[in-house]
Amino acid sequence: MSTFQSLGLDENLLQAITDLGFETPSEVQQKTIPILLNEETDMVSLAQTGTGKTAAFGFPMLQKINAESRTTQGLILSPTRELCMQITNEMEAYGKYIKGLNVVAIYGGASIQDQAKQIKKGAQIIVATPGRMKDMIGRRMIDISKIEYCVLDEADEMLNMGFYEDITEILSHSPKDKSTWLFSATMPKEVATIAKKFMHTPVEITVGSRNVSTDSVSHEYYLVNTRDRYQALKRLADANPDIFSVVFCRTKRDTQKVAEQLITDGYNAAALHGDLSQNQRDLVMKSFRKRQIQMLVATDVAARGIDVDDITHVINYQLPDEIETYTHRSGRTGRAGKSGVSMVIVSKSEMRKINAIEKKIQKKFEQKDIPSGIEICEV
Ligand code: ADP
Ligand code: MG
Repeated sequence: MSTFQSLGLDENLLQAITDLGFETPSEVQQKTIPILLNEETDMVSLAQTGTGKTAAFGFPMLQKINAESRTTQGLILSPTRELCMQITNEMEAYGKYIKGLNVVAIYGGASIQDQAKQIKKGAQIIVATPGRMKDMIGRRMIDISKIEYCVLDEADEMLNMGFYEDITEILSHSPKDKSTWLFSATMPKEVATIAKKFMHTPVEITVGSRNVSTDSVSHEYYLVNTRDRYQALKRLADANPDIFSVVFCRTKRDTQKVAEQLITDGYNAAALHGDLSQNQRDLVMKSFRKRQIQMLVATDVAARGIDVDDITHVINYQLPDEIETYTHRSGRTGRAGKSGVSMVIVSKSEMRKINAIEKKIQKKFEQKDIPSGIEICEV
């Protein structure tokens, strides 16, 4: 079995890794870290959610940059502000013994002037969402003309969210001879296209099989009449008193409605969607992390990239339009070797989608009955 030492990491990183309690490198870390440390190469790395991709690019980047210089040397693009903050926190934790290291997060919904001020102090590494990054480059608040390393994290999600043009614009301001490292859970053709466009003969790493969801997640569906959806959700919560879950709805409106109804009915719930201010979203995420909230009702966009450990259940209150999105939803649970359940509340007319998902994830759903005591009519 390989160790972090054997991957060629410096003492200061090894010390931080010990502090974090990481014992052995995950598979994607074992496969990527030695290559990124030893070669100046582009890379496409595919591994499911929760497999430790942040450290897979974070450790090599931290080891390769020069923290004595104030020049921006590394750029990490990621799809959401939550994810930006998370990656920044992780990079700071990994790099806590690197003297002079400054990692700055750049994302929308917060003061651009404050962010510009932080950049002025000199950030060796910037972690950014594409929208705000493009904006700040356009206003000459950020200079990435000397970056050596660029990470496209959760590339599939960024493209899903329509960031293709922003990414293109941003990268046109970066040097041609930098190394680009693309990380993604899935490889839809859009990701293949972007890899071709921005990379030169990248090393390809695949952990597990492409587009197949993790084995630590079991999938269940509950067949109900559409009007009984909400009752079903309550029963599922009642039957799992220690539930710590994300409940996915399709629209901001439904998200708000379901969360409010749950709160009215005495559940520990909160809504997370794009109509909330950044401040409200931060507060919600903070309480969720502290488990003051048991059921986080969220839209797909708001929930992207949430990395909260030990989520026990993902509940699909409504199925997403895209099958790909289901993979991302269920990937919120069963992380870091833990097991989790992905539940779907489904009406008869949506059963076709269950079959399509089964094909995609190459796993069978188990049909379950809504826990008893019911006024719920099953179909
Ligand atoms: P991904 O980006 O692949 O979804 P993350 O990088 O967010 O995954 O990692 C998921 C979780 O696993 C995080 O909480 C992270 O701190 C933890 N983790 C990462 N690498 C290791 C490791 N080698 N040992 C133990 N935990 C790890
Ligand atoms: Mg990640």
